[in-house]
Amino acid sequence: MIARNPRELDARKILLADSKWRIEVDKRMPTKSNASMKMDDLIVITGAGGFIAGALTRYFHDKGFTRIRAIDKKPLPEWYQRVPCVESLCMDLSERDNCVRACEGAREVYNLAADMGGMGFIERFRVECLRSILITANLIEAAYRAGVERYFFSSSACAYNTELQKDPKAKALKESDAYPAMAERGYGWEKLMSEMFCQEYWAERGMKTFIARFHNVYGPFGTWDGGREKAPAAICRKVIEAKDSGKHEIVIWGDGTATRSFMYIDDCVQGIDMIMHCDALIATPINLGSSALISINRLVSLVEEIAGITLERKYDLEAPRGVAGRNSDNTMIKRVLNWEPGTALEEGLGTTYAWIEQQYAARKAGKHMPN
Ligand code: NAD
Repeated sequence: MIARNPRELDARKILLADSKWRIEVDKRMPTKSNASMKMDDLIVITGAGGFIAGALTRYFHDKGFTRIRAIDKKPLPEWYQRVPCVESLCMDLSERDNCVRACEGAREVYNLAADMGGMGFIERFRVECLRSILITANLIEAAYRAGVERYFFSSSACAYNTELQKDPKAKALKESDAYPAMAERGYGWEKLMSEMFCQEYWAERGMKTFIARFHNVYGPFGTWDGGREKAPAAICRKVIEAKDSGKHEIVIWGDGTATRSFMYIDDCVQGIDMIMHCDALIATPINLGSSALISINRLVSLVEEIAGITLERKYDLEAPRGVAGRNSDNTMIKRVLNWEPGTALEEGLGTTYAWIEQQYAARKAGKHMPN
């Protein structure tokens, strides 16, 4: 099915109304960009109805690129962000013909489409996660045949060897820690295989590919309810629910001692742009994440501080919890790009909490909200 965005004016209103959720990226580090890229070259972004690709679409639009094709299998009204003047298409990219259509005329392709979610989703729905390989296999071939110059793939820290992540104080993961491979079953192995596709399309066919391993991304315009949400959004929602219901308790998955790092969405899109336009990184997986490690218990405390409330904690030891500890070693990104994600968790969480609170209130008032 191909559907064009019929409501660009509405989308413009949404965009203007929502600009308050942005932390000013452009005032920070100037983004390196591909000098030869013209503002009317076609950029294709997949998974654009979702969290990160939606933000990436808006990012390139705001930078002045005039031809962006945004694609997702979700119907358009379910997209988190609908960016004006962007060609927005509803297509299933696990199908070959749709990938051919998606890549027509493109100079750059950013593949962020995947069936994914937080631990609760990826531990339970491994088949869905594995089937994302169909997107990679069809899209990268279509991109190659269309003569695409640069191809980006969103990999994940779940591609790393799980044996190295058994301790909450685990050493930060460096890029070489993916092999010998013992990735997260399902989701992690699919990412590792897709990385290999990218590496071989460069090695055998000469298409420039770029691979970022994201470590937990959070921010506004992402999943906050329904089973696919990740820890920061889930904790914000639970705190908001507790405040709203007056039942001042929170259920935490696991015992709260697990550790992770969390990257704010604005850092993520800026990092994607920088990685995609750095020839030293062709076909080379690189961490894109924060290196500030925090326990789940501390994360809950931060959200409580934002909300101005203290809740009684209950620990669900049967719930999916993932690895014990995971952090991003940022030696390589600092060396190659002289940059790393820098938004303080307190700042990013404040913006995220406020956005989820607004979504929660709107849904309670009977509005249909994508989540
Ligand atoms: P998301 O679920 O919000 O977005 C993914 C989008 O892909 C969804 O809107 C979904 O409908 C779409 N999609 C799935 N299958 C599709 C298909 N066959 N055809 C077209 N569209 C399809 O997830 P996100 O958090 O924005 O993640 C984007 C990418 O980053 C994914 O590849 C994900 O694995 C990766 N990643 C994300 C995180 C994170 O913390 N959010 C961490 C590591 C890696």
